[in-house]
Amino acid sequence: MPYDPNNIFARILRKEIPCDLVFEDDYVLAFNDIFPKAPVHVLLIPKGLYKNAADFSKHATDEEIVAFTRAIDTIGEKLQLTKTGYRLISNNGTHGGQEVPHFHVHILGGKALSTW
Ligand code: AMP
Repeated sequence: MPYDPNNIFARILRKEIPCDLVFEDDYVLAFNDIFPKAPVHVLLIPKGLYKNAADFSKHATDEEIVAFTRAIDTIGEKLQLTKTGYRLISNNGTHGGQEVPHFHVHILGGKALSTW
């Protein structure tokens, strides 16, 4: 399936709809989840149009992948999550329960989260 340019995160990237911005650079955008599952619930997305983790891994440039990975720590520091810890989740595809078909990582924290 090709990338769907009408998905909600693509529309946020095009500034057609607003977001509660947390962090932005040339490669990534991070914003608060509209239905937070924890006191801190940030969504980190690449600005490149990748539909899932496999697409990102296969087709993103090294610069995009490095920027995305580094942004996790930048956001952790900015939101004071680094000392107490946080959880990264990336839902992928049907079995992963991915709702928005633009690759993203959830950054959750701000309290001790339940274990599996
Ligand atoms: P996923 O199941 O990993 O695809 O999760 C998509 C996430 O996007 C969910 O946690 C939603 O609450 C969140 N979401 C959907 N629309 C928006 C929006 N306009 N702004 C912020 N978060 C959103």
